[in-house]
Amino acid sequence: MANLRPWLDEQGERFRVAEIVVKCGPFRAVIPDALSAAWDVVREEHAMTRDSAITINPTAITVSCADCGHSFDARRPVFKCPNCGGEGLSFSGGNELYIEDIKTKLEE
Ligand SMILES: [Zn+2]
Repeated sequence: MANLRPWLDEQGERFRVAEIVVKCGPFRAVIPDALSAAWDVVREEHAMTRDSAITINPTAITVSCADCGHSFDARRPVFKCPNCGGEGLSFSGGNELYIEDIKTKLEE
């Protein structure tokens, strides 16, 4: 989130961040509590983010099994196909970690 800073500096004096929404895939070993604790530290550094909240939006992984063709969504990494027990799984998605949305407001 270090790249948020230059962007903030370009905004006007009354600009405030109300909420930051982070998209986080299950393959990212990010614990939501740790991420919000980190944000609590970061937001204190800047008047524009001081009163902001963080929302973490978990995404799912799409898993497909090469053995039986079964395809499903998982919220955490899986190592065996729940349908046939096969281990020939391929994954798509789940690596996301980015700022999805920043809700802003102007101070009165
Ligand atoms: Zn299978």
